[in-house]
Amino acid sequence: MRTWAEIDLDNLSHNIKTLKKYAGNKEIMGVVKADAYGHGAVEVVKAMSLEGIKNFGVACVDEAKELRANGIKDEILIFGCTPIEEWETAVKLDIQLTLASFEEIKMIEESKIYPTVHVAIETGMGRIGFEIDDAIEAIKYIRSKNLANIVGVYSHLSSADVAEEDEYTKTQLKKFSIFEEMDIKYRHILNSAGTLKYHDLTKSNMVRAGIIIYGIRPCEGDEHEFKPVMTLKSKILFMKKIKEPKFISYNKRYLAEIGELIATIPVGYADGLNRKFTNLGTVLIRNIECPIVGTVCMDQIMVRIPRELHDTIKLGEEVTLYWDNYNEKASSIGTIAYELLTTISSRVERIFIKDGKIIGKRGLLGRE
Ligand SMILES: *Cc1c(COP(=O)(O)O)cnc(C)c1O
Repeated sequence: MRTWAEIDLDNLSHNIKTLKKYAGNKEIMGVVKADAYGHGAVEVVKAMSLEGIKNFGVACVDEAKELRANGIKDEILIFGCTPIEEWETAVKLDIQLTLASFEEIKMIEESKIYPTVHVAIETGMGRIGFEIDDAIEAIKYIRSKNLANIVGVYSHLSSADVAEEDEYTKTQLKKFSIFEEMDIKYRHILNSAGTLKYHDLTKSNMVRAGIIIYGIRPCEGDEHEFKPVMTLKSKILFMKKIKEPKFISYNKRYLAEIGELIATIPVGYADGLNRKFTNLGTVLIRNIECPIVGTVCMDQIMVRIPRELHDTIKLGEEVTLYWDNYNEKASSIGTIAYELLTTISSRVERIFIKDGKIIGKRGLLGRE
């Protein structure tokens, strides 16, 4: 293997068990959009099912289809708006859709498809959904004409992860509260940060948890309570001792000095290792942080091996690219852990581990 992501399903189970303490008697919807934040949606859903999770959230019809094609029969909701021409497919596969506008109501009325929907409410995210009064009117209208099966009503918090925005988040929760009493199966507003911080402040009966299930905290708090599920790894496949000063990688951004040992690792921005890590990132070799030197290439990076390892380091040695430091790594290049995870590309093999053993693999050419 060249570069791979180890997916620790035991940590995933641990995270769900821990999250249940916050969710209390609210149901947990496992958010598995974007290939379960890069972890592998089918395997993750199966592992979540073992922890009793029965609702899943995705971003588009194809993601939902992938789950159905792999035998997953649970409830699946598509977040966000779905193009009109895809509604029928979704309905046939028993996939729940988000209903967010009067235009969509008109469309289902004309097309005579009878979808199962969650009505989206705009409370402060500024993305999609009905304003409060419109939502009440829309729900009444749909029910009076029996245009859809409404199984959910939901909203999304914009800033639950930001401590300074506590008041804003509370305003959103308050706006949503009138829907919590409605006779609708699922009423939900909390994401991961919301579940950790605001579970006591809403009578909603389901939470939508993504990042925290993957073991990464979206907000302040105990860093060890949740355990990262993914570890991104690669190996050293080439090394050179610098005999005279030498530029490393594209555009001469690093000058290696005599005596340095430079290793080449087969991972690059096409694998998802952001090019902004040029001369900035670090990797872990035998538990020692080593700097990435020079420009991150499409398929390779170079790192400087510290003196203490010069005598013993060998080709084939394992290199860890992301371990428990997603938030730190992300903020060093001005992004969030979500983006680091979801940009890990399909050519990075996913290795699924349970009870310390490999139970499956998924690479570019499929599963084994
Ligand atoms: C992605 C998403 C979530 C999950 O957010 P996390 O911060 O990962 O918990 C929840 N709800 C909606 C609508 C989303 O799009």
